[in-house]
Amino acid sequence: MRIIRVRYRDRSFYAAITSPESVRCLNNEEGLPDEIPLSEVELLPLVRPSKVVCVGLNYRDHARELGLALPDEPILFLKPSSSVIGPGDAIVMPACSERVDYEAELALVIGKTARFVSEAEARSCVFGYTCANDVTARDLQTKDGQWTRAKSFDTFCPVGPWIETHVTDERALGIRAVVNGQVRQQGTTADMIFPPAMLVSFISRVMTLLPGDVILTGSPAGIGPLAEGDEVSVEIDQVGFLLNPVISEGPSDASAVQ
Ligand code: ZN
Repeated sequence: MRIIRVRYRDRSFYAAITSPESVRCLNNEEGLPDEIPLSEVELLPLVRPSKVVCVGLNYRDHARELGLALPDEPILFLKPSSSVIGPGDAIVMPACSERVDYEAELALVIGKTARFVSEAEARSCVFGYTCANDVTARDLQTKDGQWTRAKSFDTFCPVGPWIETHVTDERALGIRAVVNGQVRQQGTTADMIFPPAMLVSFISRVMTLLPGDVILTGSPAGIGPLAEGDEVSVEIDQVGFLLNPVISEGPSDASAVQ
């Protein structure tokens, strides 16, 4: 089932996509028709996470391309909720960075509170899967020595286009990043060092995962730069296709801060 979040008649709710033209409310809200025309709903951001938890170096081929040893535990970092944008929204390259990279990633959307869950329990805490782009200011990542600034700019976490609640095998999904129609990253989740269930369990031993939180599970080999005017998509088999244009920060963005 593919799920989006919408506003309709002043109410906001999760809805299942039932056809190319209609959705169905999932919350049993009273007074709503069974089927609502897609043209009558306003699309809302898919998630409003309390946090986006990310995993660095989780694909063997990506560790190899960077010449780094395979980690023996997941390397965690966070992106702020303010970095999240939806499909079609622009990725804004900040003026203070000269190299902004895409990273295609399978994202897990948490559906129920998880703390100290086992790997066996982890699947029941995952609401579904979506595509994400872990946009990174690579030069700032290197310069700062830690990753907060490089990973946290507004618009640096495109997520979407919907939540897919069922895939046949989360450990066998093709994943690609495509820039202007050219495939730049091509991998498979089979190459993950730490699979999704292990990540949920591991992270839940550190912090409480709340409904709507998002986990970015790492990126395969082939990371590379974006330029103004590019269109970048993250494509994951059975999950979806997330397309975002890339623009540069304008003078008005900078003056708005002052
Ligand atoms: Zn990443």
